[in-house]
Amino acid sequence: MKNNSLLEVPNINSKDAKLKKLIYDVEDSLFYGGNYSNEEFEHLCICSGGTTSSCAKNGFTTLDLRKNYSKIHLDRKTNLVTIGGGVIMGDLVNHLQKHNRSFPIGLSKLPGAGYVLTGGVSPLSRAYGLAIDNIESIKGFLGNGTFISLKKNQTNPEEQLIWEAIKGAAPFFSIITEIELKTIQSNPIKVIEGFVNLNELSEIIKLSEEFPENISLQWIYAQKIYIYIFAELNNLEDKITEEYLMLLDKFPALEKHFYENFNKINFFPRELNLYELKADNHSEVISLLGEDLKNDVPIFIKCLSEIIDNKPNNSCYIASQQLGGKTKKLNHGSSFFVHRKSTWKPWIYASWKKNDLQEKKVALEWIYKSWNKLKRFYPNIHLAQLHNHLNFHEEEITLAFGNRMNELKTLKNIFDPQGILPPL
Ligand SMILES: Cc1cc2nc3c(=O)[nH]c(=O)nc-3n(C[C@H](O)[C@H](O)[C@H](O)COP(=O)(O)OP(=O)(O)OC[C@H]3O[C@@H](n4cnc5c(N)ncnc54)[C@H](O)[C@@H]3O)c2cc1C
Repeated sequence: MKNNSLLEVPNINSKDAKLKKLIYDVEDSLFYGGNYSNEEFEHLCICSGGTTSSCAKNGFTTLDLRKNYSKIHLDRKTNLVTIGGGVIMGDLVNHLQKHNRSFPIGLSKLPGAGYVLTGGVSPLSRAYGLAIDNIESIKGFLGNGTFISLKKNQTNPEEQLIWEAIKGAAPFFSIITEIELKTIQSNPIKVIEGFVNLNELSEIIKLSEEFPENISLQWIYAQKIYIYIFAELNNLEDKITEEYLMLLDKFPALEKHFYENFNKINFFPRELNLYELKADNHSEVISLLGEDLKNDVPIFIKCLSEIIDNKPNNSCYIASQQLGGKTKKLNHGSSFFVHRKSTWKPWIYASWKKNDLQEKKVALEWIYKSWNKLKRFYPNIHLAQLHNHLNFHEEEITLAFGNRMNELKTLKNIFDPQGILPPL
């Protein structure tokens, strides 16, 4: 154990937090209840990629998995890759690319194992499922200190519920030190991207709801609207894909780019001037889930426009990514990502000058109000960030886990009875 008061991580809230203690190893002493349960509201924060506001908090202890759980190994016979619980997605895809393999990571290379364990929505998900759908086995510890090693289709009835809950709700009752994942062939990608106006966005959303599984739309509305249409080319003569992409020729500002593989793409260009990693700002983000907008596109666009008009400062934005296709299928087995019908995952992002409590209050109110406006289109939550430090945590987890909430509470009671891990 090492005493250190700060953690070097991408998320600025967490980077600024004054830690009580920093731990690098999952060892028995971690689970001696007295360490945590005596102090009200305290739990252990886990850090993998360090991209969220919950991996470090003032006065709390962080278990930093990045140092001792950072191995990546690709088995060339099975094409399964084993990663440590502290591996970031950029390192994973860089390793895989050497062998012409890839993995459906999200829009950023920075997130760590938290991306995989909370679901993992990728521009490739429509074709390959969520990240959790590609988990083959895991190793780790339950909040009561019990070591677990589980493999897909080889769990006994007692283990089956843990296995399902790890896929989507792991952070509440377990510390995962190793994950085995299926990999995919690395294929070239065509991206059509650029700035559009609200009318064009409306048209493009309509088109995208008819896209085949290898094409997905992601858009971001900060100062202006920027879109990415992402098409995986399984073969370079793919006529159907070309026909869909030709429908976008009528939008003059959009540019076509060809990338040899997924790794070469960097989403969110500098021109967007996003505040995500600005050192003077703290931020929060909440992710929603819902189905195709269909005839509601015009009224959604009106609502979006109102939300952006009301944003309290320039840092705030709304963005969205498209899922559906394979993510709707349950053939990977049941999981705690319960809203399988979802085809859109919008997220609401706000930040504020880090010491300005008034601006923080206004920014968080804007998130909450915007969420309420968007609920009619996107009633559910993707719990990609834990917000137990915010007022709306309870509402979020209820909308994230739906009819599996009681099972999750039971698992938490049995396997993390002392509340060592983040509270539900
Ligand atoms: C720039 C950016 C782009 C993103 N794009 C996408 C996207 O396209 N699709 C998508 O689905 N999400 C996306 N996300 C969200 C991101 O995947 C989640 O917030 C994820 O939880 C972050 O994981 P982390 O390991 O980096 O975070 P951390 O802050 O290190 O961890 C977050 C929480 O996860 C838990 N956790 C992490 N690792 C473990 C472990 N090994 N065992 C148990 N619990 C663990 C901890 O409780 C921790 O509090 C994006 C985030 C950012 C910052």
